[in-house]
Amino acid sequence: MSLRASDLARWWQFAPSGQVVIDEQGKVLLANYTLRDWLSCSTSQLINQPASNLFTVESRMLYLGVLAYRLTDVGAVDEVHLNLRLENDDALPVLCSARRLSAEEPSLTLISMLPIGRKDQLERELLEARQAVQQALEEKNAVIAELESMRATLESHNSELQRLTMQLGHEANSDALTGLPNRRHFDLVLQERLALAAVARSSDVFSVAILDIDHFKPVNDEHGHAVGDHVLQQLATLLSSQLRGQDIAARIGGEEFALLMPDTSIDEAVNALDRLRLAIEMYHWQPAPITASLGVTGYLPEDTSESLMARADDALYVAKHQGRNHVARG
Ligand code: GH3
Ligand code: MG
Ligand code: MG
Repeated sequence: MSLRASDLARWWQFAPSGQVVIDEQGKVLLANYTLRDWLSCSTSQLINQPASNLFTVESRMLYLGVLAYRLTDVGAVDEVHLNLRLENDDALPVLCSARRLSAEEPSLTLISMLPIGRKDQLERELLEARQAVQQALEEKNAVIAELESMRATLESHNSELQRLTMQLGHEANSDALTGLPNRRHFDLVLQERLALAAVARSSDVFSVAILDIDHFKPVNDEHGHAVGDHVLQQLATLLSSQLRGQDIAARIGGEEFALLMPDTSIDEAVNALDRLRLAIEMYHWQPAPITASLGVTGYLPEDTSESLMARADDALYVAKHQGRNHVARG
């Protein structure tokens, strides 16, 4: 398809921007219909007018001082913000760009004017797009923060659960009054010890004892249950301090304690328990003196936890019958 100059001229008239061609003196030689329509005047009213007259009084200074000046200097100007003077002294903000069309004399210049409204719209759209991106970013960050806080909550619930599980485990195995292991825990440890002994056969040596406070009922009856409780707590502390690290003391009943003494023959156990008995006797109990009786037995091959505990209990019975504050072996 071949373009004709007349087509181009017609298109120029209706270009989406106002266009003028000015001469060296800055007078309008040509103005397109678009500009003419904005200004609501005829072409003849524009021709030969100084181009500066197209603008409001305030914009003329800029036109002459910036646009015309730079044109003379470098032959091109881009996007100078000016106001076209409309009917009734209205103003149309435009961005003016200009190009000198030829270097030869007399030189002509094309000025193109784009209404700011369109540029504003583009900038608004750009701003809206930026705000949408910013909002999406903020929403994403909010979701990440929410996830992070959920993870932290979950973690703290987890550690609380762990703590509770450990506490429950501890509570299931310990006596609330004295803090010593309870009967359940003692039985478990004894079962384990017996399993080990079964592997080692007759070479394994350990002893088991039962301790019972003498005449404890009168302590409660005469001084009250709280005093009795305090005695039990003090005795638990005394047991822990008197026994060796590997020995285990547990509270298995009201005022009854069981002792497991690994690597301890019955003779060694009797000696150690007699020292313990004496320590209890010598302790400065308040409000009344306290003594304890102990029955002890050594591990025999084929023993079960029941047979061991029964022998220790029988020995305790003997100790009581021998006058209490006594260690008997079974
Ligand atoms: P024995 O020398 O024959 O052992 O006499 P005892 O009075 O110690 O024995 P008995 O079995 O008749 O009484 C045990 C007493 O232990 C009964 C109760 O008053 C007391 N007792 C048991 N459990 C608790 C406890 O948890 N707290 C307190 N304060 N006293 C307890
Ligand atoms: Mg008892
Ligand atoms: Mg007793």
